[in-house]
Amino acid sequence: MAVTETKAEAVSDIVIVGSGPAGLTAAVYAARAGFQPVVLEGALGAGGALMTTTEVENFPGFPEGVQGPVLMANLRVQAERFGARLVGEDAVELALDGPVKRIVDAEGRVYQARAVIVATGSAYRRLGLADEDRLSGHGVSWCATCDGFFFKDKAVAVVGGGDSALEEALFLTRFARQVVVVHRRSELRASWIMARRAADNPKITFRWNSQVTGIRGQLRAEALELRDTITQERSVLPLDGLFIAIGHEPRTELVQGQLDLDQAGYIRVGPGQATNLAGVFACGDVVDHTYRQAVTAAAAGCRAALDAQFYLTSLDLPPHPDAIV
Ligand code: NAP
Repeated sequence: MAVTETKAEAVSDIVIVGSGPAGLTAAVYAARAGFQPVVLEGALGAGGALMTTTEVENFPGFPEGVQGPVLMANLRVQAERFGARLVGEDAVELALDGPVKRIVDAEGRVYQARAVIVATGSAYRRLGLADEDRLSGHGVSWCATCDGFFFKDKAVAVVGGGDSALEEALFLTRFARQVVVVHRRSELRASWIMARRAADNPKITFRWNSQVTGIRGQLRAEALELRDTITQERSVLPLDGLFIAIGHEPRTELVQGQLDLDQAGYIRVGPGQATNLAGVFACGDVVDHTYRQAVTAAAAGCRAALDAQFYLTSLDLPPHPDAIV
């Protein structure tokens, strides 16, 4: 993206890119250590994936569960309380080499920092069908909590066999009259508890061994074209709405060519949360294709902030006057 750069800010200790559980936990730790981190929260994506989640039942310390957006709002307040500066803009350019890193936001503001923590998370995976983007917002969605309300008494399908797909399906039963989970295998990837809840819900049915090959509809999604992965038989499933929940892809576009990525495209880290560039750390879903939980992202954010702190301390610069390590 071409941006007009405005005057660069003074060099700060830490800039954090991303504001999900990883980025904001890193902000809490870095701020509490007196580094006054700047957090580029993102314009629309601030708060990360939990902003479009409902009940989070497995974050430690909330026996009754907590709403995803409430958890993120609390984390934000906690980070600000210790002096983190949250900026509601997207980072559009990162230059991570050298002792002082440069970060440009969508308004052209330039931030400079000795350490950067990349916590850009992941984006919804797409099916890769021609009609997917055309019908996005016209019956095709990646977010039941955002769009489920529009499907009152309608028939909808959810593609995917993981926890996300079942969470979406269960949420959609509040509105839709029928929810069909379309999965490409005959066995779910989802956890046992989610699978049981979905199986017990009378509004939810399953289409097993079914690959989506097309989405029909001129102005709105009207039907799914399916192929049986065992018999190769083709069929059409009429519907009013389609929710795609087939996982996520790491958001690494800003660091391509700078940071080492693994075969699946996630940022490689180690030891700790260190990347291949000195002073650059990464945490959360952008490094993790295994655990991908709010609590593991938060833990990695803590590690990244401590690693950044060790790095800054090793530079032997004078300690910050507010440090309370
Ligand atoms: P996931 O576990 O990777 O599952 C993705 C699902 O989509 C799989 O069933 C996969 O099929 C299917 N899929 C992938 N690409 C596809 C394609 N091109 N066409 C059709 N189907 C495709 O992702 P997730 O469900 O988003 O979960 C990610 C992580 O977050 C997991 O660790 C999960 O436990 C966690 N999570 C937890 C909760 C909760 O506890 N309430 C809620 C949401 C997510 P295959 O099975 O055949 O590979």
